[in-house]
Amino acid sequence: MVQVIEWVNPGEDEIIWRYPNEVIKWGAQLIVHEYEVAVFMRDGKIYDVLGPGRHTLTTQNLPLLYKLVGGSNSPFKATVIFVSMKEFQGRYGGETQTRELAPIKYYGVYWFKVADPVLFITEVVGGQSLYDANDVTRFIRAYFNEGMMKHLSAYSIVDLFQNLDMVSTQVKVKLIEDFRRLGLELVDVKIEGVNTTDEWRQRLFWIMQTGNAQYVMQMDTTKQVAAELGKSSGAAMGTGMVLIPQLMQPPAQPAQPYAGAGVPPAQPQQPAAPAAQQQEICPYCGKPLPPGARFCPYCGHQIHRCPNGHIVPEGAKFCPVCGAKIE
Ligand SMILES: [Zn+2]
Ligand SMILES: [Zn+2]
Repeated sequence: MVQVIEWVNPGEDEIIWRYPNEVIKWGAQLIVHEYEVAVFMRDGKIYDVLGPGRHTLTTQNLPLLYKLVGGSNSPFKATVIFVSMKEFQGRYGGETQTRELAPIKYYGVYWFKVADPVLFITEVVGGQSLYDANDVTRFIRAYFNEGMMKHLSAYSIVDLFQNLDMVSTQVKVKLIEDFRRLGLELVDVKIEGVNTTDEWRQRLFWIMQTGNAQYVMQMDTTKQVAAELGKSSGAAMGTGMVLIPQLMQPPAQPAQPYAGAGVPPAQPQQPAAPAAQQQEICPYCGKPLPPGARFCPYCGHQIHRCPNGHIVPEGAKFCPVCGAKIE
């Protein structure tokens, strides 16, 4: 009876399959389906690789193994691993900390496929001794998640909430590089959500309202920020513009060095630009809001406002900008 080596009915999520019989006969039929590759290994080392097609195993198409086992026609020992070259989808989710140690949770989806089966087998299957598809999938997921955690933790919480598109593009580039090292192509990554604790969401709110992360970070609690802001309430009343309370001023900058050594700036002092009408941003998702919006068009969150139109945190009793009582 002719030995047939074939991956019958691969499961939808199966990326590899090991042919259970390690004794191979010359003349065996090897059936490699489309989007598959068959890799012959022995003692953890890769010998021959065969692509899609129906192959009768001969000394011709397994030249490296043949060289190893010698000229005899008797059966030889080898591990045959089938690798699927199809695209797979994986979901991820995890927790990490931002640069300023804000706890964040994130989740999303990614797509990948094997790009280099030899490297993939060397690094993952053989390298980690994972010969079961579930183990391989688990390993890839953990590897992805670890990379995601590491790369996300290089960003600030403001970047994550305000510039998620930029962060995701940059993180993707790094993850693609990580995956390439395993012989995998990371086709795409989507960050579907990022979240943090209530306390940090409140802080984020103040950072976005005031544009001063450093100040907000220095305050122990968000209540303190609100209280400090509330103190200067009267000042902004009726002036038609939002005055930034004294505390909100950025810390004094070191004197700017002249561009050319010893040459004072030739330009006369520019008059201070009038405080530009600040573009309001959604404190929940960081996207720009249309003037006077009551709901964010991006995340749908309700935008709470004081009677004078300032955005206030949910549940606030007084507007921290103008001091108006909120009904
Ligand atoms: Zn929003
Ligand atoms: Zn107000």
